[in-house]
Amino acid sequence: MKMLIKAPAKINLSLDVLYKRDDGFHELEMIMTTIDLADRIELELLDENRIVVQSQTRFVPDDERNLAYKAASLVKDRFSINKGVAIKIDKNIPVAAGLGGGSSDAAAVLRGLNKLWNLQLSIDELAQLGAEIGSDVSFCVYGGTALAKGKGEVITPLPAPPKCWVVLAKPSIGVSTGEIYKKLELENLEHPDTQAMLEAINTSNYEKMCRNLSNVLESVTLNLHPEVKQIKRDMKRFGADAVLMSGSGPTVFALVQHDSRMQRIYNGLRGYCNQVFAVRILGQPNE
Ligand code: ATP
Repeated sequence: MKMLIKAPAKINLSLDVLYKRDDGFHELEMIMTTIDLADRIELELLDENRIVVQSQTRFVPDDERNLAYKAASLVKDRFSINKGVAIKIDKNIPVAAGLGGGSSDAAAVLRGLNKLWNLQLSIDELAQLGAEIGSDVSFCVYGGTALAKGKGEVITPLPAPPKCWVVLAKPSIGVSTGEIYKKLELENLEHPDTQAMLEAINTSNYEKMCRNLSNVLESVTLNLHPEVKQIKRDMKRFGADAVLMSGSGPTVFALVQHDSRMQRIYNGLRGYCNQVFAVRILGQPNE
C-alpha cells in the first residue's frame, strides 16, 4: 500500500529565548506558521522488516540519521511492528535553512504511518511522539499556526495569520543551529513582544504582525554572515512590508500583500540568490 503526504516548511514569525534551563536546553517562546513550500513524502509498506529512505538530493542522509527514518523507527519500536516501510522524499524545502524541513518530513511519516498501520493515535499523541525525534517535530505534526513553548514541543494552536505573500531567499551558506545558540548572549537580548504578535494574529491585523516580526537569533547569524544582511536590505528596498530571518537561518523571508511588489522582490533576489520562493502562508492545520 502507498500513500503520498505533503510536508510543509515553517517560518518563525517570532522567536524568543527566555532563559537557559537546568537541563541545558533553552526555554523558547516561538510563533510558527506553515507555508506552501513542501516536501512530498511517499510511503510504501513493505512485508520485510526494514526501513528504506530515498531522496533525489545528496544533501540529506539516506540512513538512520534521516529524521524521516527516525520517525519510522520510533513507531516500529513503540508498537512492536515487524514489517517495514520505504520512504521516498521529494525534497523541495532547502536543507539546513531554518525552515524545519527535516522535522516536517518526520512529522509526515508519523501522520502517514498512523493511518497505514491503523494505530489510531490522536494528533496530540503523535505530537508527543514527535518530541522524542526533535523539538520542531511536534509543531509540524499539527501544522497551521501555533505558539510553541518549552524546547518547542508545548504547542498551542492559533488562527491563521492575515493573508499575504511570503518571499523566501536562502543564500548558499551553511548555518549550524548549535553554533548560533552557543554564540547567543542571553544577557543582552532584545526580546520580541510575543504578546503583541499573538494579538496581531488573533485580531488578523496585518500591520501589527509586520511591526512585531522578531527573532533573537537573527543578530547572531547576521554578524557571522553579512550576506544575510544584504538580502534583508534588498528585500526592504524592493518593497517588502517586513523582513525577518527564520529559525537560526540563513533563510530570510519578506511579507508583502501586493502582487506587484511580491514580483519585484522575487525577481530582484533571483538576480543573485539561487534559492528564492514566493508562496502563501498555509493557515489551516494539517488534515
Ligand atoms: P531547524 O529549523 O528545525 O533547525 P533546518 O530547517 O535548519 O531545521 P533541516 O533541513 O531540517 O534544518 O536539516 C538539518 C540537518 O538535518 C541537515 O544537516 C540534514 O543533513 C539533517 N537531516 C536529517 N534528515 C533530514 C531530512 N529528512 N530533511 C532534511 N535534512 C535532514
